[in-house]
Amino acid sequence: MNKTQLKELKTVLSQAQNIVIVPHKNPDGDAMGSTLALNHYLSELGHDANVIVPNDYPNFLKWLPGDDSVLIFENDQDKAEGLIHEASLIFTLDFNALHRAGEMLNSLEASTATKIMIDHHQQPDDYAKYMYSDVSMSSTCEMVYNFIEQLGDLEKVNSDIATCLYTGIMTDTGSFRFPSTTSRTHDVVSQLIAKGANNSEIHNKVFDTNRYSRLQLLGRAMQNLKVIPELFTSYITLSQDELDEFNFKKGDTEGFVNYGLSLKGIVFAAIFIENKQDDIIKISLRSKGEFSVNEFSRAHFNGGGHTNAAGGRSHESLEATVDKFISILPQYKEQLSPKQ
Ligand code: 5GP
Ligand code: MN
Repeated sequence: MNKTQLKELKTVLSQAQNIVIVPHKNPDGDAMGSTLALNHYLSELGHDANVIVPNDYPNFLKWLPGDDSVLIFENDQDKAEGLIHEASLIFTLDFNALHRAGEMLNSLEASTATKIMIDHHQQPDDYAKYMYSDVSMSSTCEMVYNFIEQLGDLEKVNSDIATCLYTGIMTDTGSFRFPSTTSRTHDVVSQLIAKGANNSEIHNKVFDTNRYSRLQLLGRAMQNLKVIPELFTSYITLSQDELDEFNFKKGDTEGFVNYGLSLKGIVFAAIFIENKQDDIIKISLRSKGEFSVNEFSRAHFNGGGHTNAAGGRSHESLEATVDKFISILPQYKEQLSPKQ
């Protein structure tokens, strides 16, 4: 977004608008944090915007300020479609292609509203009139902070905005440790704490509200962890039966794949999770260094994301999906091997 566009947007936002804010399907901390923070900011500007999420999100995010106003498209389709139809402005946050909004795709495509993208995923589609896309950013939340700053409104950042943005930056950076975390990220986080984000409390709310059954599921995932040392790769499987055995709830497997990546010498980790309801295997891929899981997922598993974190899916069985994964891997031996 250039200076002229920013000026234009400032004018647009100074007028009455019907605004909808949308994150990607299966929203994570960055998706929820950025949409809710933007909603709080727009309300500071006098707008009564609507946050519409494609489907439900994990309980560990259901305390975020403004959470009670979130509309779930899947559960309230008529109302959500009405709001999208009436919208004059639609912000799409933390995704790079409209199909990432899942069931909302058709309504978003049919809408004549002006679209604004704020996102840090690679290879963004060209659907938005105003595009703030930067793949070097730690998180969409860091970008929403920049967006507010570029509009000259940092003094409007209140404790609700700060709390939402802190949460998304924290979750998308693996608590400030992924390489996308820069000194600027820490500067922003410092400002957010100064504006009222309670860092320790947020950490507790997101990470320390485990149910016993979730830890037992983690135990099973760790027992299922396999290592392919010659390809510096590890992978985990969880079948629908195993999820059922441990009373799986949305969000329970968040972060499991990182344990595979924490093994000494491993640079590529995958988790394959069976979802009988959607008849897919949900795949999460993580890497260290230059090996691009975004490219890997685009090439083989109908997905994408970032260099070091991507998602994908398969329509084959769990066994067939893992077999495919194992059979593809040797092609990447050179990229996966440590550089001399
Ligand atoms: P996760 O493995 O946690 O589902 O996703 C990891 C990262 O990749 C997240 O930033 C997520 O938004 C992104 N991602 C997951 N699935 C897809 C996909 O199908 N396409 C694209 N472009 N990004 C994805
Ligand atoms: Mn993100």
